Amino acid sequence: MKHNLRTKLSVVIALVVLLTVAFISFFGNLFIGEQFNKYIAKLQEQKINEIVSTLSLQYEKSTDTWDVDFIHTIGMSALYEGYIAALYDMEGRTVWDAQAHDMDLCAQVMEDISDRMVKNVPQMDGTFTSETFYFNRNNETFGTVNIRYYSPYFFSENDFEFLTALNTVLLVIGTLSLIISVLIGILMARHLSRPILKTVDVTKRIADGNYDVRIDEETGTKEIDMLISSINHLAASLEKQENLRKQLTEDVSHELRTPIAVLQSHIELMTEGIWDPTTERLEGLSEEIQRMGKLVEELENLARIDSNSIKLNKSMIRLHEIINEVIRIFEAGIADKNLTISVDGDCSAINADGDRIRQVVVNLLSNAVKYSKDDGSISFEITETEETVGFQIKDNGQGIPENELPFIFERFYRADKSRNRKTGGSGIGLAIAKSIVEAHGGTICVESEIDTGSCFKVILPKTNNRGL
Ligand code: ADP
Repeated sequence: MKHNLRTKLSVVIALVVLLTVAFISFFGNLFIGEQFNKYIAKLQEQKINEIVSTLSLQYEKSTDTWDVDFIHTIGMSALYEGYIAALYDMEGRTVWDAQAHDMDLCAQVMEDISDRMVKNVPQMDGTFTSETFYFNRNNETFGTVNIRYYSPYFFSENDFEFLTALNTVLLVIGTLSLIISVLIGILMARHLSRPILKTVDVTKRIADGNYDVRIDEETGTKEIDMLISSINHLAASLEKQENLRKQLTEDVSHELRTPIAVLQSHIELMTEGIWDPTTERLEGLSEEIQRMGKLVEELENLARIDSNSIKLNKSMIRLHEIINEVIRIFEAGIADKNLTISVDGDCSAINADGDRIRQVVVNLLSNAVKYSKDDGSISFEITETEETVGFQIKDNGQGIPENELPFIFERFYRADKSRNRKTGGSGIGLAIAKSIVEAHGGTICVESEIDTGSCFKVILPKTNNRGL
């Protein structure tokens, strides 16, 4: 059977507190009890000594007489406290004897003490014993006193009251701290489990496809806050993926629908004999087929990136050479728009996959050309530090809106969709460039301002880059 976190925490906290309180009460009681017993035993010893010494003072040596009245007072007061005294002179004659004086009272006192002790401390197993003390002065014994008392020690009514009060206080403190701790435990358990339950609820909703839900709660507990932020992050990335998936399906179907419709209508017209299949028309159809082929090729590229298995075929390459080669490929496009292009800086050769790096430059330059206005300018700048080489490509074209910047490296993301339909981009070039750069252990980033231009920066480490 599974118990929920709140119950478990409450029970564990309550148990710990219960054990602690029981432990403290038990040992506290034991310790205090023992100390109290010792204290009482000592007190009793002192009392007996006190009785003996005051009695001894009642002897007057010069007249060889005892102050019997005083002895009687002392003896009676000792009797009420539980000490039964009998005083004898040096010949052994009785001077004063409590039992002889009041037999009934003595029996009553002894019975009271025995009853009280047997009732309250049955485990003590005490009995009345008597002890004889000698009165000595100048090495001469002038009498003895015999004291009967409950041994090893006994408690008075007051002592028992004190012990009962002490136990009650301990019990009340224990019970109160138990109740308070259980309450605190329950509150704490609730405080801990509430955000977890909320997180579970949100994850369920995410699993049901509601990617826009977020947990907007700070618990102050590090691990739970980390869990919450991971779940929020997960939801955000699922939401992004979901949007991209929708956009991808939309884009692919849109891209395919147009050429298919053109092909279908044109072929129908030709098969029905309405149109002659002239070379020009057939070339038009072939162009449509090529567009579809390109799209399929890009989808394949995408699948390859997705499989996250870019294999690098490394050799020593020079960025400068690659950039110049790529510029030559785009010569026609550059001339068409009358763009000025420049390459500045240089760097040492690095160990990288030449074809892949060329692909990065192709994608970046093709964008720069595509999104440049007529008579614009594109400039490459190659840089080198102790650990890295890199280049930046800057254009003064359309730029990218600030709110779109974080997404342009996503697959199939096309900023300002209408303009890209015209330019024919599919939104995958930058995603491929990013994967290649990252496979080399490098970074790619962009700075751009709308209507001012864009600047893409690629940095590659000279060593330690991943790849086979
Ligand atoms: P596409 O095939 O659409 O060019 P990319 O992944 O290469 O796809 O680029 C993603 C989007 O980033 C583009 O649709 C475009 O809006 C924007 N973009 C990329 N490079 C530039 C640039 N140099 N100038 C302006 N916008 C750019």
